[in-house]
Amino acid sequence: MIKMLTTNSRIFLHHILVAFVTVGLMGLLPTGTEAQNEYFFPTGFTFDESIPSPEEFLGYPIGTFATRNDRLVAYMQELARLSDRATYQSIGTTYEHRPMPVLTVTSPANHARLEAIRQDHLASLVPGSSPAGDIPVIAHLGYNIHGNENSAGEAALLTAYWLVAGTGPAHD
Ligand SMILES: [Zn+2]
Repeated sequence: MIKMLTTNSRIFLHHILVAFVTVGLMGLLPTGTEAQNEYFFPTGFTFDESIPSPEEFLGYPIGTFATRNDRLVAYMQELARLSDRATYQSIGTTYEHRPMPVLTVTSPANHARLEAIRQDHLASLVPGSSPAGDIPVIAHLGYNIHGNENSAGEAALLTAYWLVAGTGPAHD
């Protein structure tokens, strides 16, 4: 996970449908962002406070509501708007005309040479070629192609926040 931040990872979200369901556990679950972060992320890390957590953006702790597709996409777009670590694109639309978002997360330096990294990566895949020494590891994280399996979309929100807003030597 940490390695991905020094390199080039993609969060691929093909999230078709999320029903709006209340779980009825609001009073029983921790409500503060800090409590949520302690539950989902390892201790000892901090987050850039200029980047809203999923809970701050959506208005509820992850796990208490099923997040709608449009809100999920909006959060990815907000991360890209606020951070120079992230860029957002949609690579198409689903049969229901929903966007197919890709959030690319890497250092600003790598963002400036994504096409060169892509070309080096392709060249390294040619049979018989030797891997280029300086291309970063590329991790493609795919979330959710089936609309009734919405835990992956919720996980995508948290993973994107972790990658984009995490601070400290490990993330830098
Ligand atoms: Zn499935």
